[in-house]
Amino acid sequence: MLRVGLTGGIGSGKTTVAHIFEMLGIPVYYSDDAAKQLMNTDPEIRRLLTEEFGNDVYTAQGLLNRAHLASLVFPDPQKLARLNAITHPVTIADSDKWMHRQSTPYAIKEAALLVEAGADQYLDFLIGVTAPENVRIERVMKRDGVSAEQVRHRMQRQMPEEEKMKRCHAVLHNDEQTLLIPQVLQLHQQLLEKAAAIASS
Ligand code: ATP
Repeated sequence: MLRVGLTGGIGSGKTTVAHIFEMLGIPVYYSDDAAKQLMNTDPEIRRLLTEEFGNDVYTAQGLLNRAHLASLVFPDPQKLARLNAITHPVTIADSDKWMHRQSTPYAIKEAALLVEAGADQYLDFLIGVTAPENVRIERVMKRDGVSAEQVRHRMQRQMPEEEKMKRCHAVLHNDEQTLLIPQVLQLHQQLLEKAAAIASS
């Protein structure tokens, strides 16, 4: 089975694209959701987070106190890097196990920080989703009810989108000028053919 990554900057439309692939019957692993769940359920992550950030990162009920953790890591790039160093390896291992359980010709792992986390080395094909910066800012402001400055701040924590797209084998343009669904359908066909070629070799 072909292991495919799907990445792009904040507001580029990764989740939107992932939903189209799901409609085509392709399973998608959503890394952010998985990481949030693993921070509650994985004993090793729990131990490392408590060791690094203190007991208050979990509530009295034993659930991750996300607001508290966010207040610690987002203003401090070094702390954010330590959080990522704890969560990324476990999420990569979890997505790898998930990939092995899939039986479709290909399966997709969606993640904003896929390249930054070094997860692309475990994948066979990388899809990038791109949109102009002003469009991405508008979308996230509307979706999350935040200011343009807050979106720009989040963008600064990611690799520049142009650089990220250079690492991708295929790039989908979600600029609201180019139709998105035909691009996904064409890529789906290409991935099915690639998976079939690998299976028969
Ligand atoms: P994040 O990295 O923040 O999770 P994302 O890359 O997954 O973002 P989406 O959540 O898919 O991006 O899209 C951001 C917002 O823009 C959503 O509200 C989505 O509905 C909207 N959107 C995405 N693509 C389009 C489009 N082609 N036309 C109109 N709205 C769009």
